[in-house]
Amino acid sequence: MKIIDIINQEQMSLSFEVFPPKKETSFASVRTATEEIAALKPAFMSVTYGAGGGTSEYTLAVAKNIKEKYNVPMLAHLTCVSSDKETVKRRIVELKEAGITNIMALRGDLTPELEKGDRSKWDYVHAVELVRQLKQDLADFCIGAACYPEVHPESACQRDDIKYLKEKVDAGVDFLTTQMVFDNNLFFNFLYKLREAGITVPVLPGIMPITNANQVERAIKLSGAFMPQRFRAMVDKFGSDPSAMRQAGIAYATDQIIDLYANGITNVHVYSMNKPDVAKGIWDNLSAILGKNFLE
Ligand code: FAD
Repeated sequence: MKIIDIINQEQMSLSFEVFPPKKETSFASVRTATEEIAALKPAFMSVTYGAGGGTSEYTLAVAKNIKEKYNVPMLAHLTCVSSDKETVKRRIVELKEAGITNIMALRGDLTPELEKGDRSKWDYVHAVELVRQLKQDLADFCIGAACYPEVHPESACQRDDIKYLKEKVDAGVDFLTTQMVFDNNLFFNFLYKLREAGITVPVLPGIMPITNANQVERAIKLSGAFMPQRFRAMVDKFGSDPSAMRQAGIAYATDQIIDLYANGITNVHVYSMNKPDVAKGIWDNLSAILGKNFLE
C-alpha cells in the first residue's frame, strides 16, 4: 500500500521508524524488536539506510520481513550521496521486486571524506537528483523526503532551505517527514512557512521519544533540535533514574502527539529506535484516539 493513500485517509495514525542491524550477528535481535513493533499494526513502518550505505542490504531484509509477516506497509529509506547511479538503480529494482512501493529519498550525511572530495565527480549532490531518478526510471513509487523545521545544518538560512525543499518536492515528492522536533510550535511555524512557499504535500512531524538521558546529547548532535525548558527540566529531574526517565519520556512524546492531533495533524512519525516497549507505551497511551476521525 502506498503511504500517500494512508495519509489521505485523514485518520489519526502513528507510524514507527526502525533501523537495520550494523552487522550480521545483531540481525536476530533487530528482527525480534522490529517484529514486536510491527505487531502493534502501525499505519506504516520505515527502515533507515545506514549512513554511507554500508548496511543497505539489511534495510531491504528488515523491510521485507515485516511486510511479509505482518503486512504492515513499509517505507524503505535510500541515500544516494556516497553511491553511483548503477548501485542506486540496483537498490531500487531490489525494493520493487520485494513489493516495497514506498521510498524515502535522501541524500545522506556528508562524511569527512566526502566533505574533502570533488563534488563535480559525484553522481548525486542533493536528494532532488534521486527523486528525479525515481520518477524517471520507476514512476510508480510513492516518494517521501526529509525536511527540517529548524533548518538543515548546511543551509545558510531558512529561506534557502525552503527554496531547495520546494525544488525537491516539485521533482515528485508525495510527502515529507520532519527532522525530530521537541517543541510543536516550531513544527507549526515551519508548516505555515511551507504552505506560504507553495509546498502543499502532507508533512509528517517526526517525534523522538527520549527515554534515556544518554540519548539527549546524541539527539542534539544529530538534529540540532531545540530542547524546550520543560523538556530540560524533565531530563534534569528524572535522567538519573532509568525507569522514571523512560516513563517521563513516553509521557512527553505522547503529550506532543496529542497536541499535534488536537491541532489538525493526522499522521505522526515516531522515531521508535528499535524499542518495542517505548512504541507500545505510546501506542497504549493513544489507544482511544488512534484510527478515529473526530471530524465525522
Ligand atoms: P537534501 O535535500 O539534498 O538537502 C541537504 C542540504 O542541501 C540542505 O541544506 C538543502 O537546503 C541543500 N540543498 C538541497 N538542494 C540543493 C540545491 N539544488 N542546491 C544547493 N543546496 C541544496 N540519513 C541516513 O544516512 N539514513 C537514513 O535513513 C536517514 N533518514 C532520515 C530521515 C529523515 C526524516 C530525516 C529528516 C533525515 C534522515 N537522514 C538519514 C539524514 C539525512 O540524510 C541528512 O539530514 C542529510 O544531511 C540531508 O539529507 P536530505 O535528503 O535532506 O538532503
